Amino acid sequence: MATTVETLGNFIDGERVSAGGETEPVLNPATGEELARAPRSSAEDVDRAVTAARRAFETWSQTTPAQRAEALLAIANVLEEHGDEIARSEALNAGKPIEAVKSDEIPVMIDNLRFFAGAARCLEGRAAGEYMEGYTSFTRREPVGVIGQVTPWNYPLMMAIWKFAPAIAAGNTVVLKPAETTPMTTLRLAELAGDILPAGVLNVVMGPGEPTGEALISHPDVDMVGLTGSVETGKHIARTAADTLKRVHLELGGKAPVVVFDDVGLESALETIAGTGYYNAGQDCTAATRVLAAGGVYDDVVSGLAEQARGLVIGDTLSPQTTLGPINSARQRKRVEGFLERRPERAEIVTGGHEPDRPGFFLEPTVVAGLEQDDEMIQREIFGPVITVQRFTDEQQAIEWANATRYGLASSVWTRDVGRALRVSKALRFGCVWINDHIPLVSEMPHGGFKESGYGKDLSVYSLEDYTVVKHVMANIQ
Ligand code: NAD
Repeated sequence: MATTVETLGNFIDGERVSAGGETEPVLNPATGEELARAPRSSAEDVDRAVTAARRAFETWSQTTPAQRAEALLAIANVLEEHGDEIARSEALNAGKPIEAVKSDEIPVMIDNLRFFAGAARCLEGRAAGEYMEGYTSFTRREPVGVIGQVTPWNYPLMMAIWKFAPAIAAGNTVVLKPAETTPMTTLRLAELAGDILPAGVLNVVMGPGEPTGEALISHPDVDMVGLTGSVETGKHIARTAADTLKRVHLELGGKAPVVVFDDVGLESALETIAGTGYYNAGQDCTAATRVLAAGGVYDDVVSGLAEQARGLVIGDTLSPQTTLGPINSARQRKRVEGFLERRPERAEIVTGGHEPDRPGFFLEPTVVAGLEQDDEMIQREIFGPVITVQRFTDEQQAIEWANATRYGLASSVWTRDVGRALRVSKALRFGCVWINDHIPLVSEMPHGGFKESGYGKDLSVYSLEDYTVVKHVMANIQ
């Protein structure tokens, strides 16, 4: 029997509006079934949202930091109140085990919002004084204007919060396009926030990169564009933004090296590495999926990770027992399988590598050994439940290999030797280095890349500053 599913609408100028045109299916990746239909928004839809954001900017940019902080605290509270409902929707739409969303992700998002509420009140100009005789100078940090933001499908709601919360905290207004496969929770939070924020401060338009994303990133009245997504889309956005000299903020892919020396307590290290390599089915730009192991522990690392992988429970994402969900789309699973199919002959799939016999876009947790530095699986982001292991001979080689990809987002070093930990953390060219851990994040610390992982920071006061422009005011006081 055919069931009808909800048709989602855009959220523009404080209300849900039907885009009126074509719609596309939104699937549950754990079953392949249709959950809803989402608009394929046109350039006209985007223009309506940008016009609303521009109008709202006139008043929102004049609010006090305390007023903006109060609004963000209220949004954090509604997210907390609706946490179970939103967790369920995120689990269904993104294909995440519900327990992970409830216990790991929702509390982090609430904390992110509360942090940005506090940070809104702490923005400061760096200097004020008389730098020329008879003149007083000071600097002001002012909002940039209308911000166009594009988010990915791996942490749909968390990435939306990392984008819009610092932007509106700093007095900007936002038009945000979620990924076409995962729009549900972003729309829901925008609607809940619609009772708190003035109309037009936060707008959500749905649709794919072409035409919706393109219309947003090239809109002449958007002052700054931000993306969390792939390197290729990031480069395209930077090129497009150059035409109107929009500011650009890019959090792109990663290929995190996990450098394991032979003096670590292997059992707990491997539990953490596998836990953070397979978290969210490896669809995480900081995932611990590129392990470099010292010769003395290489065999134990390979077998220990395989054992951890075999211990994961694949299943219904609404079941509390499930620890590994599906990949987000059939397209992305095919992309991940492509890496496995193209592997060199010497590479060994130690465990996994197959689609389990169930509906949805699942892939078994996989460990691949015997790879070399120039292999595609080492050089390119896989973004799926696949951990690779390489054997290194000494510290110098470990550092060289860890650094030798185009990415520079996150990394970790595992050793009990304090001197070595500090030497290696200095030498690693990544926006984040963890020592004897991988993945923990805090709202107060910056998250963002070096090299082709992009520029601009998420989280921390640095991200708030990225959404401001510095103005110098100089007064003749004679
Ligand atoms: P993508 O960059 O194509 O998509 C990310 C977002 O960008 C989506 O909302 C998409 O609609 C939008 N987009 C795409 N083309 C656009 C355009 N021309 N203009 C404006 N917006 C556009 O990423 P993907 O193809 O979904 O995933 C491919 C790879 O990207 C992954 O395998 C992974 O390597 C990387 N990725 C990284 C992250 C991250 O957190 N850093 C997240 C998702 C994907």
